[in-house]
Parts: sequence; structure tokens; C-alpha cells
Amino acid sequence: MPAYSVFHTRVICPSCGREIAYRGGQTAFCWGRSKFHYFARGDAIEWLHDTRKEIVPPFTWYRKRGWLWQSDAEFNFGSPTYPDLIAFDPEISVQAPESRVCPSCRSRYDHIAVMIREGRLIEVKVFEEGEIADTIGPLVPFAETVLIRADGTYEPRPDWNDPPMSTLES
Ligand SMILES: [Zn+2]
Repeated sequence: MPAYSVFHTRVICPSCGREIAYRGGQTAFCWGRSKFHYFARGDAIEWLHDTRKEIVPPFTWYRKRGWLWQSDAEFNFGSPTYPDLIAFDPEISVQAPESRVCPSCRSRYDHIAVMIREGRLIEVKVFEEGEIADTIGPLVPFAETVLIRADGTYEPRPDWNDPPMSTLES
């Protein structure tokens, strides 16, 4: 860690409808196979599989070995057991709150997240100032991963901000 995945899609300001251009159309997030790139809404979350085609357990470094090659170690962040969640951009988390401003209309925002439903990327959502507290709750400590339970309630996972990792060899 960190090994972010990236969703390439325009990031739109909810106040003025213009693109938050300094984001460069890229939103980082942690869910599914590490360092994977997605380019379209509706894309299914990719999961790392081992040589027996089983999904590698969560938060476990895994390196595929071949006859003449050895791949880079990768891991799965989370598990397909959780199909619905909010994955906040960890690059926004390290920005000063006062810098989280739309360059077009100067509206402040709390954060930017990839919204995942039924295991697919639905959209990039810009949470306006106060919106996280109003919808999810105070989120103290902040959790970059917020699971959405089947009944629609939220389960923040601050324990996954910097999860303990294990290692598995193929
Ligand atoms: Zn704006």
C-alpha cells in the first residue's frame, strides 16, 4: 500500500455542472484488484485470482509464478462479498480541506468518491460541503471505505484505511 485503482471519467461539480478539470478525469480508489484501471461506467470490479482461478483472499499480497517469469505482487482490497460501497479517493484525503474547491464556481466540497453498486462502478460523486455528515454521518474517524448494507445503512470501515497485509505464494 498504497496501490490505488483509477476510474477514468470526468469529475463533475454538483454546484455548477462543469468539470473539476484539475482532477484530470482521474479518481483514485481502493477496491478490488490493486492498481487496476477502469474506463467506463458500469464496468465490473476486477478481482485478482490465483492459479487455481480462486479469488485471492482480501489484503493478501500474491505473486503468480510461471516457468520463466514471476509477476509483480498484487492484492485484493476488500471482497466481492460486499457489492455496494462508497470508495473515497485517498488522494483527496491528503489534500488540505480548504483546497477542495471547484475551480469554476469556487464551491467547496468535502470529498470525491467512486460509487460501487452490485459490484460495478456507477459514478464518481463529488460530496458537497456538509453532505457526508448529512447523508452518511459524522465519519469520525474518516473512513475511505464505507460499505452499504443490504438495508441501505452505512458501515464505515476506518480499519481498512491502512489494513494489515499478509502474503501468499502461488
Ligand atoms: Zn463548480
